[in-house]
Amino acid sequence: MKLGLAQLKTGENAFLFSSQNDPWLRDLEKALAEQCVKITSGLNAQVMLTKLEPDYFLKGALQFEVKQVCGRCAESFSLPVLHGFELGLAHVQNTARGQLKDSVSDESEELDIVYFEGQEVDLSPILEEQVLLSLPYAPICRPDCKGICQSCGSDLNQGQCQCKKTNPLNAFAALAQYKC
Ligand SMILES: [Zn+2]
Ligand SMILES: [Zn+2]
Repeated sequence: MKLGLAQLKTGENAFLFSSQNDPWLRDLEKALAEQCVKITSGLNAQVMLTKLEPDYFLKGALQFEVKQVCGRCAESFSLPVLHGFELGLAHVQNTARGQLKDSVSDESEELDIVYFEGQEVDLSPILEEQVLLSLPYAPICRPDCKGICQSCGSDLNQGQCQCKKTNPLNAFAALAQYKC
């Protein structure tokens, strides 16, 4: 999805996208599914592009549910995600690397910068990256998940197993059993 910058008004430009209405978001979901990120709910994106030349800022919020596998018990579950982000957009006027920095003014220096060329910004790769960034490093199906027994492999959420001693939760062992 490419936003033409010339058509934007100076100041804030708000957009609302959803995979229900916008085919490019459905394509994005497909691209994510190929990376084992399975969105189960539909993807909603609120985007605010602020144009204050020479600066452009992109602020957004993503809302979706995604299939995750619990790092403790290896059960899959649906995780609701609400992810906000804020980026600076920098126009690449000269592709020589040394020149890149010059196109970013002081004001946007504290934000993560996404570079773009030409007169449009492609939202698809930006939102794809933000979805990936929003995913938890170690998802847990619920805070008190007891995980699986390291000795017999039984799900301790279903009750204590017969083993005398259970190891502490081991996320890696559970994940090793999981194949996307
Ligand atoms: Zn769990
Ligand atoms: Zn056991």
